[in-house]
Amino acid sequence: MLVLGTTNEGKVRELRELLEPLGIACRSLAGFDAAVDVEETGATFAENAALKASQQAQALGHWVVAEDSGLVVPALGGAPGIHSARFSGAAPTGDRRDVDARNNELLMERLAGVAGRDRAAHYVCHAALASPRGEIVAVSEGQCHGRIAEAAAGCGGFGYDPFFIVTEYHRTFGELAPAVKALISHRARAMRAMVPAIVRALPSS
Ligand code: IMP
Repeated sequence: MLVLGTTNEGKVRELRELLEPLGIACRSLAGFDAAVDVEETGATFAENAALKASQQAQALGHWVVAEDSGLVVPALGGAPGIHSARFSGAAPTGDRRDVDARNNELLMERLAGVAGRDRAAHYVCHAALASPRGEIVAVSEGQCHGRIAEAAAGCGGFGYDPFFIVTEYHRTFGELAPAVKALISHRARAMRAMVPAIVRALPSS
């Protein structure tokens, strides 16, 4: 059994949809009293993914896959980057949809007057797999490229998705079906690269 080291429901939903069809039995952190609140003190997505996987695995005594992800906008110097979850300053607890809405408002504010190619952006996801002793045994990365819309479109996905126009589809992740996001997202790419390591670690999961 593999524990998904996140409480973000959007991420849990997508991770389950990616891993369970491959026969990998998953549980989210919800329901584990021993789960810890991991402080994301790393300076990079990779460091934060490793911190989350390692600390939850040690706390729970289970294999844990964790990821750190976010939106990178070169015209904003790479922001919101590793601070994507709390870009607007609000802690991402309680109803995440409120926090997502405030983050998106700030993104629109910061990009006011920025047009065309300068609205290019990409999502990044770094994943880490930790053994029950907290050792990182595999890492992976995925990216997904697009640009930031002038206005929200669609209500699928989570976070910045209604504003993220996917290059290949000319539609936002808010508009596209979950099956499309499961094929081409940063998270899907990082998890697909991680599957061989998960299967090696948990052959009978
Ligand atoms: P983390 O939980 O610290 O990794 O922060 C992830 C944050 O990045 C989320 O709360 C969203 O704001 C943003 N993010 C990451 N992946 C996605 C995605 O697939 N869609 C929309 N926003 C995302």
